[in-house]
Amino acid sequence: MWQYFMPTKIFFSQKVVEKNKEVFKNFGKMALIVTGKTSSRLNGSLDDIENVLKSLSIEFYTYDKIEENPTFEQIRQAVKELESYSFDFVVGVGGGSPLDSAKAIAVLLKNRSLPVEDLYDASKYNSSLPIIAVPTTSGTGSEVTQYSVLTDDTGFKRGFAHDLIFPTVALIDPLYTMSMSVSLTRSTGLDALCHAVEGFLSKRATLISDLYALESMRLIKQNLPRALENQNDFEARAAMSFASCLAGMVISQTSTTLAHVLGYPLSTFKGIRHGDATAAFLDVVVQKAQSEVPQKVDKIREIFGDIRKFIEVAGLEIKLQMTDEELEKWTKRVLTAKHMQWTRGTFDEFSIRKLYERMRAN
Ligand code: NAP
Ligand code: FE
Repeated sequence: MWQYFMPTKIFFSQKVVEKNKEVFKNFGKMALIVTGKTSSRLNGSLDDIENVLKSLSIEFYTYDKIEENPTFEQIRQAVKELESYSFDFVVGVGGGSPLDSAKAIAVLLKNRSLPVEDLYDASKYNSSLPIIAVPTTSGTGSEVTQYSVLTDDTGFKRGFAHDLIFPTVALIDPLYTMSMSVSLTRSTGLDALCHAVEGFLSKRATLISDLYALESMRLIKQNLPRALENQNDFEARAAMSFASCLAGMVISQTSTTLAHVLGYPLSTFKGIRHGDATAAFLDVVVQKAQSEVPQKVDKIREIFGDIRKFIEVAGLEIKLQMTDEELEKWTKRVLTAKHMQWTRGTFDEFSIRKLYERMRAN
């Protein structure tokens, strides 16, 4: 038995926004653009969208204060600033942080009295402003997922899921990713890799998600090293945008698993980029799946050989100072996370703690 649902209409090409500008016409007369502080101005994505909206006489307001790992408080601030306007739709432009924020804001502007915490209770709302997603990184796949990951008031990352926040349209232009630095290319590429591998090994994997996952892994194996070696390699960049989108479609079916939840505190408490923080644990996800799905693990080995080596070659090495209190807090959090039920293998407090200790520098 399997099912498949991923309702986002995807457009993928160079100059995708200009070429498909009629798409915006169906969404209404007033747009909210949600983006980060600088990069979308520099890589041309924001200008492209604003120009297209102007040419269609669609009014817009650009909210450009989204930071990395967006917090509940930042979303509250945004809603406060935006609630006096009457928007017909939301355009998220940027990496996963602006896209995830756009999703949360789209729901909250439609449900004015809903507190941000209640985004996590799907029964509390049944409407959202429609969302158009324009990714400028190639990692999160947020343009094709029903997830938004926010940092709660205690500093932990938590994702909420709702079919309403699948973007209606994703406009993917790999040209926008050409300006990514080597380190951003690595961390976002590794995030996509984690989505493909965790999704492939997830207990919720399906026949379709496996097809996407395997193709995504093959593309990443061939193209992430190329994109890291030569930032101007457009073919490699385009392949990474495609791989990231495929991997997003994978997790839309399977969710993410152990590596993601282990990585979350490293981003919010230690400032390690999401993809790097997650990939640091990916070898364990593969290792632990060996006894339950050996054929799948073989397939991963066929593609990458030793996945830990592939990740190290990409340049990832994390060593961190951490206190015993931090270790205890993070470990407890991981053990209660819903990701664990879809992760292969068994884990207890001791084994989770050991995974963090692996990267301890003190
Ligand atoms: P990000 O946090 O959105 O952005 C990281 C940095 O990259 C920012 O400084 C940003 O600039 C910059 N940037 C974005 N595009 C760029 C470009 N084309 N050239 C140069 N710099 C660029 O990065 P991300 O890795 O894409 O997203 C990570 C977030 O997504 C995390 O919060 C993670 O938890 C979440 N996530 C969500 C899903 C999902 O399914 N929804 C899945 C995985 C991860 P600005 O400051 O100007 O924006
Ligand atoms: Fe991720």
